[in-house]
Amino acid sequence: MNSSHHPGNDATKRNGTGLEPPRVLRAPHPGASNASSSRRRFLQMTVGGAAAGLAMAAGMEFATPRPVLAQTTLDPDAALRELMDGNRRFTAERLTSFEHDLAVLKQHTIEKQEPFAAVLSCADSRVPVELVFDQSIGHIFVTRIAGNIVTSEIIASLEYGAAVLGTKVILVMGHAGCGAVKSTIQAKEVPGQISALFPHIQPAVDQAGPHLEAAIKANARIQAALLREASTVISGLLKEKKLKVVAAYYDIASGTVTTLE
Ligand SMILES: [Zn+2]
Repeated sequence: MNSSHHPGNDATKRNGTGLEPPRVLRAPHPGASNASSSRRRFLQMTVGGAAAGLAMAAGMEFATPRPVLAQTTLDPDAALRELMDGNRRFTAERLTSFEHDLAVLKQHTIEKQEPFAAVLSCADSRVPVELVFDQSIGHIFVTRIAGNIVTSEIIASLEYGAAVLGTKVILVMGHAGCGAVKSTIQAKEVPGQISALFPHIQPAVDQAGPHLEAAIKANARIQAALLREASTVISGLLKEKKLKVVAAYYDIASGTVTTLE
């Protein structure tokens, strides 16, 4: 991959200009300067009163900048870990993405983007992808479509994410109570072109039967497999171990994402 696609640490180099590095880049030298104010914000965000001491002990790691390198240096396993760590912060209600200075993040992403991960998710309003993984501007490349199905336009988008922007993992994420899968199981008359979704999801229903959760999980696995096979760009990156495609399931009630492989 051409290095011009990956200016990598050039945001860090800008430190000399007096710009504060965005905390999301997790600069290798976490400045002591903002540690105490971020600790304060963290405490304000998450706890009050008597619980503060306990949370401080338990949540210390969330309050300090995470010592991870710039996004483009993550390998596929590390990129997946970063997503799952974010989901753990989400379920623990210890989000750090809101602490990021959005003005600085915007400034660093006006002319380029270097998302470390891509997510193919359902359009369902209960699946707010950035929130679920505790990510902010410029971090994840998200394609959404009812039933998280793989169409040629979705493949094209995810190929762009992987081949041009350098995403290291693609998570194909089904979710609890998915209406698109439920409708496919029920196979009733639906208005307009809604039924155009059904043929994409039918193989999962054929495989898993009418049990909704089983069909949703089968659908995520099938769509992930389709993505791995249908795209020569993606299968090439997989062979070179520059990319991972992983199926996952989002449990709406608990907020937990689990991988299915
Ligand atoms: Zn859905």
